[in-house]
Amino acid sequence: PPLPDVVGIFCLFSVAAALDFKYHHTEELEAYLKGVHAAYPSLTHLHSIGRSVEGRDLWVLVLGRFPTHHKIGIPEFKYVANMHGDETVGREILLHLIDFLVTSYRRDPVITRLLNNTRIHIMPTMNPDGFEATKVPDCYYTRGRYNKNGEDLNRNFPDAFENNNASIQPETQAVMNWIKNETFVLSANLHGGALVASYTFDNVTGSLKGYSRSPDDDVFIHLAKTYSFNHASMYKGMGCDSRQTFPEGITNGYSWYQLEGGMQDYNYVWGQCFEITLELSCCKYPLADQLEKFWRDNKAALIEYIKQVHLGVKGQVTDRNGNPIPNAIVEAKGRPHVCPYRTNEHGEYFLLLLPGTYVINATVPGFKSMLKTVEIPDNTGNFSALKQDFSFSEVSIRSRAASCPKTPLYQDLERASAATKPTLHILVLMTVMLVIFK
Ligand SMILES: [Zn+2]
Repeated sequence: PPLPDVVGIFCLFSVAAALDFKYHHTEELEAYLKGVHAAYPSLTHLHSIGRSVEGRDLWVLVLGRFPTHHKIGIPEFKYVANMHGDETVGREILLHLIDFLVTSYRRDPVITRLLNNTRIHIMPTMNPDGFEATKVPDCYYTRGRYNKNGEDLNRNFPDAFENNNASIQPETQAVMNWIKNETFVLSANLHGGALVASYTFDNVTGSLKGYSRSPDDDVFIHLAKTYSFNHASMYKGMGCDSRQTFPEGITNGYSWYQLEGGMQDYNYVWGQCFEITLELSCCKYPLADQLEKFWRDNKAALIEYIKQVHLGVKGQVTDRNGNPIPNAIVEAKGRPHVCPYRTNEHGEYFLLLLPGTYVINATVPGFKSMLKTVEIPDNTGNFSALKQDFSFSEVSIRSRAASCPKTPLYQDLERASAATKPTLHILVLMTVMLVIFK
């Protein structure tokens, strides 16, 4: 590795104290995050996206060359941990990930390029009340799993397949608002109690057996394997006991067990963000003396997974004057989303796709579609997805706002079309029309 420069050495010694391998309770966690921001003010941005039922801040530390705001072309990535308050490993290893990223910037060329080309959002705890309610380390289920109102936050999101009657909790609402306000492309949700990378869908339409496949199943398998094969042992698929094994350390969420109102399906369907769920420890709340090993086992996987945000293709949709068109629908042919992926306020889109040839379809509601064939290389090492812009020469107006309904999309579509047994393509076309003409 290159010799650290003077700035790097200065930064190394300017951090208040090295991060210990121990559990950081609310005050210590806040003090640590504030200390990092004070030591690296231009590389980090610290904000609270809301409060828990008991009034604790839901802290997010953002890292990157431009931490305070989105830059066109730079994808947004997030890690969320400790959603179940008694699953604690993710909460601590995310603090060590923060420590590693800030101390490696301008010293390690890979981390430097990663932070220059990615905006990384880290939320060490989504359920601080549940963590504080769990008094002592315990490998098995405790009440601390739930938030203060006794709700399981990973059953609390709107569901694409059935009506979720759970009342939306403050922690859930804060995350939903956050997802709406940022153009997240890739994400992971860190849990404990098993050792596996699980991917969408968690729920299903009707009574499908065995596997609930999303249109981007190949991408999700790649993402899950990126984590499991860069982890010290997850890829071996041994699970936590001999009764349950996971080939290659991955599983479709529904194949493992069905759940309603989970965060990963919500991210994928409504947030345009590919999220997987990482189960990082057989013991939910292990003794602190094991945290250093957990960090070592996960470090490479955490970094390699972030790089995958640069898979696929990205670009801007503009009108004849070069102005960005928000809410244009941009999808890859053959993999339609039931709630079509749309451009953000800057006219930007990001589509995670494996290397290969794809037809990208950009549609401005009310105008004809534009098709472009793209050859997608493996770009993750370049820290940039392939760039493909779309310019609509006949359009000089901004697209009307479009939003997906909050109702369970798959369920409604299935019911509406039960007589005709249409293909998924027709289902999606119907949704597009619903969105455009609603
Ligand atoms: Zn969990």
